[in-house]
Amino acid sequence: MKQSQLFIKTTKEISSEEDSRNAQLLLQGAYIDKLSAGVFSYLPLGLKVLNNINNIIREEMNKIGGQEILMPALTPKKIWQTTDRWENFDALFKFEAHNHEYALGATHEEIVTPLLQKFIFSYKDLPQAVYQIQTKFRNEARSKSGLLRGREFLMKDLYSFHTDEEDLNQYYQKVEKAYNNIWQRLGIADITVKTYASGGAFSKYSHEYQTFSEVGEDTIYYCKNCNIAINSEIIEEQNHTCPECNNQDLEEKTAIEVGNIFKLKNKFTKAFNFKYANEDGEQKDVIMGCYGIGPSRLMGTLVETFNDKNGIIWPKNIAPFPIHLVLLSDRDEEINKEIKKQGLDLYEYLQNNGWEVLLDDRQNVSNGEKLKDSDLLGMPIRLLISKKTLQGNSIELKLRNKAEAEKLDLDNNKISAYLDKLYK
Ligand code: ATP
Ligand code: MG
Repeated sequence: MKQSQLFIKTTKEISSEEDSRNAQLLLQGAYIDKLSAGVFSYLPLGLKVLNNINNIIREEMNKIGGQEILMPALTPKKIWQTTDRWENFDALFKFEAHNHEYALGATHEEIVTPLLQKFIFSYKDLPQAVYQIQTKFRNEARSKSGLLRGREFLMKDLYSFHTDEEDLNQYYQKVEKAYNNIWQRLGIADITVKTYASGGAFSKYSHEYQTFSEVGEDTIYYCKNCNIAINSEIIEEQNHTCPECNNQDLEEKTAIEVGNIFKLKNKFTKAFNFKYANEDGEQKDVIMGCYGIGPSRLMGTLVETFNDKNGIIWPKNIAPFPIHLVLLSDRDEEINKEIKKQGLDLYEYLQNNGWEVLLDDRQNVSNGEKLKDSDLLGMPIRLLISKKTLQGNSIELKLRNKAEAEKLDLDNNKISAYLDKLYK
């Protein structure tokens, strides 16, 4: 992608009310645009990031048998009354149109349960797991910290359906593994911990996945021995003790909830009278689990985690482009032409070899600004061609997370091979 053709521009002027690092950097880099509190547009580079996150999640959900669907965001009042949540789900956006009342989808148990009920009748039809990656709406009282708490945000919600609790428990463990793979691939596995949280009416615990961060809204108590944590909500009833090893030497930390998993058992299936026939022909409640992840919150979390004073430092699986090829301009028109020619050559060559490249070929921007933008935008690899590199028949390579640059021969084949070794 050529930067000269992108409609977006980086900016230095960010409203002083944006006090979170993810909001500042993503707005400055024109990854996102803010429409109102907690409501954002994803611009070309930002959408690429979000899709990279979604695709990792999607692959891991598919691996554990999740079937992707897409449910409506416009939901009638009646289904929420069936479970008593029209009044009791505190953040529903509700409205009336043509004498009918609706809520914008905030979570989808009320939609997915009667949906699966249309297809599942017998133990032979179970187990099943369906998921979606969809925009959710919640009238959050305090929408803040950029992408961390939106009023309109993306959620991956997976729902599983089982004959009994044992089968649910087995699937629950599969989801735990899938979630661990996701944190691994996002580069946050070592700062993300499974956290015991309140289980609601039906289970002792639910589990959240919490990523350590100073801007996190949650307080958790970390057990080093087990690499798990306990949410402050239940720490009193836990007597400040790790539920796995009884350790009482827990470390208090702030963290961002990036996902959670929950055994719903028959909470929703009972409300909708969703039953199946077992092997003896008896009608039994279908047993359910639900499993959430916030891809847009994750995008904010990654920026909070991976940045320095100059900008974002994207992990390689997440970056919109692995390579930022920056062409510095020169006053001498001949040299300038040569820089452009070599740059375009390399751009084409790398793309033909399977690399996605962002090319800074802008002519109306100073070299200083190009370098600043490159740091701000945060692609993992910066390749630079300038008068100086050209004269040495070389090119400069700098990793965004390293201070020193290195020199490579200006030989497309060699550069590509070097990148393969470094990165693929
Ligand atoms: P929180 O306690 O942070 O409000 P929650 O318990 O309401 O989260 P769920 O309803 O279980 O969260 O949603 C599943 C996932 O969706 C969460 O783990 C989080 O990653 C994400 N999420 C929830 N609310 C928001 C929001 N307002 N903005 C962005 N992501 C969110
Ligand atoms: Mg919430």
